[in-house]
Amino acid sequence: MWIGLDFFSDIVECSAAFRPTHDWKEMADMLDRPTLAIGGAAVNARRGVRAMRVLSSGLAELHGEHRFGSSLPRLWWVLTSRSWVKAPIHFFLIEHSDGLVLFDTGIDPAITANPRYIASAVGRLLLRRIFRFHVTAADRLDLALRRLGVEPAEVRTVVLSHLHFDHVGGIAHLPNADLIVSEREWAQLREPHPEREWILREHLEVPGARWRPITFEPTADPMFEGFEGVHDLAGDGSMVLLPTPGHTPGSLSMLVRTEGWAPILLVGDLTYEAALLTRDKVPGTGDAAELRRSYAKVRQLQRRLPGLVIVPSHDFAAGDDIARATHAA
Ligand SMILES: [Zn+2]
Repeated sequence: MWIGLDFFSDIVECSAAFRPTHDWKEMADMLDRPTLAIGGAAVNARRGVRAMRVLSSGLAELHGEHRFGSSLPRLWWVLTSRSWVKAPIHFFLIEHSDGLVLFDTGIDPAITANPRYIASAVGRLLLRRIFRFHVTAADRLDLALRRLGVEPAEVRTVVLSHLHFDHVGGIAHLPNADLIVSEREWAQLREPHPEREWILREHLEVPGARWRPITFEPTADPMFEGFEGVHDLAGDGSMVLLPTPGHTPGSLSMLVRTEGWAPILLVGDLTYEAALLTRDKVPGTGDAAELRRSYAKVRQLQRRLPGLVIVPSHDFAAGDDIARATHAA
């Protein structure tokens, strides 16, 4: 089934409904303003996260069994399923006082324009059974950022939830960004056949890419008890990376906290819909037991952080959920 124009205009409206409190370009300019000296130390007057936007790089369709799980063997439903469900391909732009941060980068429009975008012939064959993509040239990351008044070169940090091609597709357009990924996820490239897990070297080994694999440090903060460790991205607690394996072995989530907002947990592909995680319903892909362990940790975090908003990368509710969370005050 093809997706009609009405469907696309819904998406556009959804992102238009998400308005920052200031003009976006003006906020980007604010990052260059001098810091103020308070108590003898040079600190930014308003350190932390200031704004957040949900972006999309088109739409995918995937099998119902893929999104909602199935009792049938994976290869069976991949080869026989006739059920297709739509999913947005979201990524997130965050304005922190230290600079602009992206959580994921969406998909490269080459997925539909270039028949050889996936190098392996088997991969190309399987991909047609697993996904249908509706991605246009205008969905390219640099164009999407410029439509918001943001120069791609201004982005200083990119956090990749994991290394699948629908999350790393924009990295070539970010010349000044450090690319943060978990060391466990990165280690897959050293394994014999990463392409069998859709970790595709051809999209990661981009000239000039500054990959920065990180490890998670132990923490005494009872908030994060149960997690293997944390990585405090800016050192101010406003963006905390947490290991949430299951979709891939090195998948991570990012907790975003700032005054006046509900806390937000960007979970990548840990689940495709927040409600599925609440109901302990795992998708038809990934390591089910590992996913359930990560789900339990996230639900525990939600009990410790009442009002925590869980935002998956392929959830149509992401735009509304972020808008609600950031206007919570
Ligand atoms: Zn994905």
